[in-house]
Amino acid sequence: MRGVDLARVKQYMLEHPDEFYRKTPFGELAALPLSGVLGFYKHWQEADLPINRDQVLFFTGPAEDEVLVNTTRVQGLNGLDVEDLTQAEALGRKQVLMVAEFMQRRLPGFERASISGVGAQIGVRETRRIDGLYTLQAEDVVQGRRFSDVIARSGYPIDIHDPSGKGVTAAWVQGDGAYDIPFRCLLPKRIDNLVVGGRCISTSHEALATTRLTPSCMATGQAAGTAAGLAAMLGRTPAALDIGVLQSALLSASVVLS
Ligand SMILES: Cc1cc2nc3c(=O)[nH]c(=O)nc-3n(C[C@H](O)[C@H](O)[C@H](O)COP(=O)(O)OP(=O)(O)OC[C@H]3O[C@@H](n4cnc5c(N)ncnc54)[C@H](O)[C@@H]3O)c2cc1C
Repeated sequence: MRGVDLARVKQYMLEHPDEFYRKTPFGELAALPLSGVLGFYKHWQEADLPINRDQVLFFTGPAEDEVLVNTTRVQGLNGLDVEDLTQAEALGRKQVLMVAEFMQRRLPGFERASISGVGAQIGVRETRRIDGLYTLQAEDVVQGRRFSDVIARSGYPIDIHDPSGKGVTAAWVQGDGAYDIPFRCLLPKRIDNLVVGGRCISTSHEALATTRLTPSCMATGQAAGTAAGLAAMLGRTPAALDIGVLQSALLSASVVLS
C-alpha cells in the first residue's frame, strides 16, 4: 500500500505499546526507522474479519509512504490441485480488499492509503520437494549442524505457519546461530542430471520452515546454478562433482560457508 503516514503509525505504537508484539524494540523505536510492524491486536480483534490470523503484520517498503502487507491467509487447500489453486486465488484477492479496507478505516496512519500492488499470483508456502541424497531435519537446523558438503548457511529460525490454525511456531538456531545446508539436499536420489535450488530442496516439513525463506532460496539457487555450470563444463553429473571445487567456486563469489 502507498500513501501510509508511517510517522503516525510510529507515534501510535509508542503511545500504545501493549497493542503490539512484546519484543518490538520500543526503547529505540523513536530514533529508528520503522521496519516490521506486528500487532494492532485490538483493532484486528474488533474488526472480526473472516481471516485466520490473530494480528496485523506489515513491513515498510522502499518508499517513505509504502508498506508491504502480510495479513491475508488462505488455508485448507491443495497447492498441487488446479481447482484448489483457482479457489485460493479468488479467496486471496477478496482478502486483500477486505484487509485494505480495514486498514484504511481503522488503523492510524492508513487513512489516506491505497493498494498500489498485489502479488501476481497466490503464493504457496509448501508443496512438492525432491527426495534428495540428504533430507535436512529440524534437529540439523536447531543444533546449528555443520556438514562437510556445505554450500550455503542460514540463520533464520524454524517459522511454521500453522496450516490449519492461527499460530506460528518458532524454534531458534542454537550454537553460533547458523546452520549448514549440504549439497546433497540439492541432488535428487533418482535423477542424475538434475540439481535444484530454492523451496523444493530436500527437507522435512519442519526444516523447510527455514530453508524456504528468500535469502536461503537465493543461496541454494546460487549453489545449484554454480554446480550446474561446473558439471556442464567438466562433463560430469552434479553429484559427481568434487565438492571442494564447488565450494571454491562459491567462496570466490563471496558466498559465506563458515
Ligand atoms: C505468503 C508467503 C509469505 C512469505 N513470506 C516470506 C517472508 O516474509 N520472508 C521470506 O524470506 N520468505 C517468505 N516467503 C517464502 C519465499 O517467498 C519463497 O519460499 C521463495 O520465494 C521461493 O523461491 P523459489 O525460487 O524456490 O520459488 P518461486 O519464488 O516460487 O519461483 C519459482 C518460479 O518458477 C516459475 N515457474 C514455475 N513453473 C515454471 C515453468 N514450468 N517454466 C518456467 N517457470 C516456471 C514461477 O513462475 C516462479 O517465478 C513467503 C512465502 C509465501 C507463500
